[in-house]
Amino acid sequence: MSATPATADTLIHPEWIVPVVPSGTVLENYSIALDGGRISALLPRERAGEIAAESVLELPGHAVMPGLVNAHGHAAMSLLRGFADDLPLMPWLEDHIWPAEQAHVSPEFVRDGVELAIAEMIRAGTTTFSDMYFFPDVCAHTAEKLGMRCQITFPIFDFPTVWARDAEEYISKGLALRDDVKHSDLVTVGFGPHAPYTVSEPSLVKVATLSAELDAAIHIHLHETAGEVLQAVELNGERPLDTLNRLGLLGPRTQCVHMTDLGDQDIALLARTGTHVVHCPQSNMKLASGACPVGKLLERGVNVALGTDSAASNNDLNLFGELQAAALLAKLTASDATAVNAAQALAMATINGARALGLDDNIGSLEVGKQADLIAIDLSQPETQPVYHPLSLLAYACNGSQVAYSWVAGELLMAQRRLTRVDLDSLNARIRRWRHRIEQGAK
Ligand SMILES: [Zn+2]
Repeated sequence: MSATPATADTLIHPEWIVPVVPSGTVLENYSIALDGGRISALLPRERAGEIAAESVLELPGHAVMPGLVNAHGHAAMSLLRGFADDLPLMPWLEDHIWPAEQAHVSPEFVRDGVELAIAEMIRAGTTTFSDMYFFPDVCAHTAEKLGMRCQITFPIFDFPTVWARDAEEYISKGLALRDDVKHSDLVTVGFGPHAPYTVSEPSLVKVATLSAELDAAIHIHLHETAGEVLQAVELNGERPLDTLNRLGLLGPRTQCVHMTDLGDQDIALLARTGTHVVHCPQSNMKLASGACPVGKLLERGVNVALGTDSAASNNDLNLFGELQAAALLAKLTASDATAVNAAQALAMATINGARALGLDDNIGSLEVGKQADLIAIDLSQPETQPVYHPLSLLAYACNGSQVAYSWVAGELLMAQRRLTRVDLDSLNARIRRWRHRIEQGAK
């Protein structure tokens, strides 16, 4: 038990605190103190009077919980929200998304798209996001400027795109970015080989070696559809997960995104190697990609985090929607209403995401000493009344618009739903210009 600090930057008195760790806990009439960007106390309200705080926030009717961790996305693609819908993955990518990207993606596209994504994510409770996209340096700097925490996994392909020519150049540019931001408190950088069907084996081996040397994350799309798995078996005689295992890519630094086509052997391999799974239920449903067996993975001890994927395939970046979809889809696919309960769904959106990104010592739960990344949710409105079980409301009734306050590293990024670092008028004007340009280009 830590001693009560005498002073704090901020002292918050909400009605409920959901720390996520220990699992399923709801604290009533507790207060939380933030100091120097970290959580300095979590204590019964009657003892909080001992702390002299610069700013005191009374939040009756609010629940405070860790900020959500969006463990997979392509933030800048927010500019392509609703650009092409109702198509299967490959025609959607090959006939619509990749040509539009080839024509329009630039540092300015990424800057504005990332700013739009961050504004949307803060308003729906996300405080950390993972990103894989071109011009990752622009994403990193935009996130820092707006005070948002993120994991950048720089893209790697074996063919040229707007950002680099070949795997070697993607990797060298990405590692230069990693050096550039190595002192950042908010940004971490890892490897983002796009998928086994777009990156060759020698390049994947290079990624495995460098990741081990540098202790850096690997983030890869894997088993997104049954078709991808089947094609790999026809081409290489093995499933993509087995290919990654053979090449030395599986392990606790690796985050595999989607994972829809998994048998018991695959699940055992993930559990044995400590590889993380990032589940993107809404993107998988919208592209009819398939379903990740979340209930089974959790049962076998595999860490499952959640991601929105991009706004071009979702079509939003709302992690509350995602955790709800994850719980419902898990129940439906397992024909078991007890599969993935409210506490598990909230854990997937917070501490499991932090664990996947290698940040669980610092974020993902409300514990003294961790970074002050938290949100306050107003449960006093009709959509979230009455409050029998705060965990149930947060998992099944909250749609993100009840998030009233957001802090990252103790910095207030939203207060009473007003963003403190984003000028929405200027942003909206830029977004309208992009829509006009992209629409002209598509004709
Ligand atoms: Zn993706």
